[in-house]
Amino acid sequence: MITRRQALQNVTLFGAALSAVPFVSLMSARAADAAAAGPFSLPPLPYPVDALEPYIDAKTMEIHHDKHHATYVANLNKAVAGHEALAKKTPEQLIRNLDELPEAVRTAVRNSGGGHVNHTLFWQMMKKGGGGQPKGALAKAIDKSFSSFDKFKESFTDSATKVFGSGWAWLALDSGDLKVVSTPNQDSPIMRSAFPLLGIDVWEHAYYLKYQNKRADYIAAFFNVINWDFVSERFEKRRA
Ligand code: MN
Repeated sequence: MITRRQALQNVTLFGAALSAVPFVSLMSARAADAAAAGPFSLPPLPYPVDALEPYIDAKTMEIHHDKHHATYVANLNKAVAGHEALAKKTPEQLIRNLDELPEAVRTAVRNSGGGHVNHTLFWQMMKKGGGGQPKGALAKAIDKSFSSFDKFKESFTDSATKVFGSGWAWLALDSGDLKVVSTPNQDSPIMRSAFPLLGIDVWEHAYYLKYQNKRADYIAAFFNVINWDFVSERFEKRRA
């Protein structure tokens, strides 16, 4: 029996088997049109595309949201077409129990449902004038789990730096503990029964226009746009 904790530690291995999944099929020029057809829709960005300048450029935000995220939504809609029961679930419900899905849709829901859930969170985890450090209960929990905010930052940065290929690094609640974990592709901590609080997208599409191969600079810049109010609220609600 694999415990939740072991499962999270194995999360990278678990994804390695998926590395052959072609992501090219997720990119479609007609993404926005197709996204409209189905139960899931593309949420608007909670701020203008240039709000995170100079840390994340407007062109990247525009393409990332309007094309990449839209394509995940479109492909999730395609995946659940003809599956009435699945179409009624929330995206989080769909990705929480992948094993229970019909095999024919499992990979598509994992990639596109994961992409939809991850990006919907990602936009909210950032804001203009963000950065700094969390306050209150989350600050205390971070100190307790990592010994200091700086140590947390170091761990999160290290995790994001070491994601091989495409994926995410997260601060997640796992069985009541704060942990830094990474996931490959569009996998979410939710798929491992953990709860994502903060995440950074380290797919090249998230930074390549401005940072090219300098992922480390993008990760450092990300700390200037983190919406700690959103992250703290998520943490407190989950704990309550
Ligand atoms: Mn992305």
